[in-house]
Amino acid sequence: AIVGAGAFAYVIYDDRHPENQLPADPSKKTLVVLGSGWASTSLLKSLDTENYNVVVVSPRNYFLFTPLLPSTPTGTIELRSIMQPIRHILRHKKAAVNFFEAEATEIDHENKILKIRDNSDVTGDVKENSIKYDYLVVGCGAETQTFGIPGVEEFGCFLKEIWDAQKIRTRIMDCVEAALFKDQTPEEKKRLLHTVVVGGGPTGIEFAAELADFLEEDLRRWYPEIKDDYQVTLIEAMTNVLPMFSKKLIQYTEDTFAEQNITIHTKTMVKSVDEKYISVSVTKPDGTSELQKIPYGLLVWAGGNKPRKVVVDIMKKLPAQKNARRGLSVNDYLVVEGCEGIWALGDASQTKYAPTAQVAAQQGAYLGRLFNSMARTHSLEADIAYLQSQLAVTPVDAPARAGLEAELEAVGKALSRTKQMSPFHYSHQGSLAYIGSDKAIADLQLPFMKDLFSSGGAATYLFWRSAYVSNLFSLRNKTLVVFDWVKVKMFGRDVSR
Ligand code: NAD
Repeated sequence: AIVGAGAFAYVIYDDRHPENQLPADPSKKTLVVLGSGWASTSLLKSLDTENYNVVVVSPRNYFLFTPLLPSTPTGTIELRSIMQPIRHILRHKKAAVNFFEAEATEIDHENKILKIRDNSDVTGDVKENSIKYDYLVVGCGAETQTFGIPGVEEFGCFLKEIWDAQKIRTRIMDCVEAALFKDQTPEEKKRLLHTVVVGGGPTGIEFAAELADFLEEDLRRWYPEIKDDYQVTLIEAMTNVLPMFSKKLIQYTEDTFAEQNITIHTKTMVKSVDEKYISVSVTKPDGTSELQKIPYGLLVWAGGNKPRKVVVDIMKKLPAQKNARRGLSVNDYLVVEGCEGIWALGDASQTKYAPTAQVAAQQGAYLGRLFNSMARTHSLEADIAYLQSQLAVTPVDAPARAGLEAELEAVGKALSRTKQMSPFHYSHQGSLAYIGSDKAIADLQLPFMKDLFSSGGAATYLFWRSAYVSNLFSLRNKTLVVFDWVKVKMFGRDVSR
């Protein structure tokens, strides 16, 4: 058993340091990929990198498994368990890929130049640079939408990136400790212990649920003094939360939240935020609205997405994009409307599909296959040109000529097959969301699965866990996430800052 385990460990260890990689080839067409999220990482996984001179530009040098991000501020899942270094993915490709940790600042589509900037705190002499590309893939995702509401950026915490999760974590514990500071007034204690989550989409719901678990299973035990004062409120502008789920599952979520003492305020829109209060407009049953002020200690803002500046800038430059809102409008092959040589996918694009990780991953895999097919087309076209030149120039005898003609016909057929790449089609597998107290909801497509998990609950929760673990890209991440769940069951969550 020890020898077996040792051999297994060696295979995994060795796999982390691949050596036999072809060098990057700058003489090939340069394909620049922006981003290291769902869309771009899926593309890189399916792309045959030996066909291009591939360059990846992203401000973070890792892929983040965002579906489990709401579990990280409370410590249910450790951040490193859901991060995978991008170099790990790139080092496993057949041909080397260049990676620059930088932000794309400008796309000059006329001259095919991308401007990039190193935003890190530690930089060398060169901080800004540019890359000449032949093909550009815009997969840089989106940023959190605040609708310009005053105070949200300054006082709210987003939940999109690693640093957001760290900020929320610090803030939760700071609020708890400050509430217990010597001679704190009862009103101030209540305010500090009031967490408000804005946005009844899956991000807001899952974070509120995780926080309620943390409160119930850990904080109330370690801080008995706060158990009656800690309060979680979820605010949503629309008439109900989770619009992508059925009425039955929405009701189930609302009931589960009520059991966990999470208050949901629908038809309530945040208007402004200051250091201690959130001003909201509440629509009453008679249609009139009323302004209210809600004291809060922690505000988590999950109000949806908007395109990044670099995407907005190129949208403004292209007349064909005048109706695009959510991201770059693309055709069925993910080519940016009005701009040859640029593709967009994931949250940076606007298609008829919802901007989810599932859509982004499928688009990335599709685009990888499309680029592989383009490379194969070029190579077959070169073969055809060569065979034709052989037939035209060289004096060949009849059998050799027949052989060349047969080869030409076979290559011609292969070329027409390769060129028949069908447009992108999204296959929806379903939606899942964790709603707290070891319960989840699922809206699945396969009929027997749909029936099995139609009402939500503990079985759906086990399905949610297994689906997420199987979707994690690496064995290392799968192992770490499972260990995190076991650790929380055995020892509870850590309550340090
Ligand atoms: P979202 O767009 O789904 O939800 C944001 C919510 O915030 C909306 O319901 C909106 O009405 C509300 N809101 C916005 N401004 C407000 C204001 N001023 N006052 C009150 N409410 C306000 O955002 P999300 O949850 O971050 O999700 C983004 C995308 O990612 C969606 O497409 C979602 O489906 C997907 N996603 C899916 C999962 C999952 O399937 N488990 C998890 C996370 C995200």
